[in-house]
Amino acid sequence: MPELPEVETIVRDLRPSLVGRTILRAALSHDDVLRGVSRRTLVSRLRGATIHEVTRRAKHAIVRLDGRRLVIQPGMTGSLMVQDLPLAERERRYAVLQAPLDDGRILLYHDVRRLGTLLLLDEAGWERYDRELGPEPLDPALNAEAFGRSLRRSRQAVKKLIMDQRVIVGVGNIYANEALFASGIDPSRAGDRITPDEAALLLREIRRILQAAIMARGSTVRDYRTGTGDPGGFQFALDVYGRGGEPCVRCGTRLTETHLIDARTTVLCHRCQA
Ligand SMILES: [Zn+2]
Repeated sequence: MPELPEVETIVRDLRPSLVGRTILRAALSHDDVLRGVSRRTLVSRLRGATIHEVTRRAKHAIVRLDGRRLVIQPGMTGSLMVQDLPLAERERRYAVLQAPLDDGRILLYHDVRRLGTLLLLDEAGWERYDRELGPEPLDPALNAEAFGRSLRRSRQAVKKLIMDQRVIVGVGNIYANEALFASGIDPSRAGDRITPDEAALLLREIRRILQAAIMARGSTVRDYRTGTGDPGGFQFALDVYGRGGEPCVRCGTRLTETHLIDARTTVLCHRCQA
């Protein structure tokens, strides 16, 4: 699933093509991606709507229209793009949402397995949605003390906590593994055992790694493509994710791969992470 750097890359790529454009009409191939909105409502609200802003919140792309926001949560196989017409056969086949624009191009949400979701929120719905999400890791207003306190409130594994979108948003399995390795923290440690200094270090490493991943246009380990349809580059810079059994980049010890923490793949160095 695309994490913060991937969605940020998509949003930055698409923003210049979308802001100021008007959606002429919208067609949806399947209803199963919709949450809290019917096909009929979505299609009628998108018709004639002007796009004012394209941003990111957590792992979601947000398209702000007149009084409403289209929230796109790309699943494992979802991608958002602006294309010239006519579409290639493959693009047409997996296009879930097709929205032709007033400049002759088309906004597409493409999703082979339809694991992503689309929401259309009014301002009150958006405020509720935004409130339920935790702080943005790259927001300078988030300080290490507050982050440390939210970790220490729980006895759950620190890896689970940093992937919990109520604690901090945007960090999924790839960047959680990387940030814990970079901080020298064992991913299975309980949140209430993380010291203030460790929390500060962990937040610094989360920020550093997310920024580096944005600069590299995200990590393509499977299906992710940028807003220009290209693979990202950060998969080549990963220290632990996808490297179970290989030597640790710091000490040479064989990296351990486990599924015991959160049923997801965790890779760690037993020597470097305590
Ligand atoms: Zn090591």
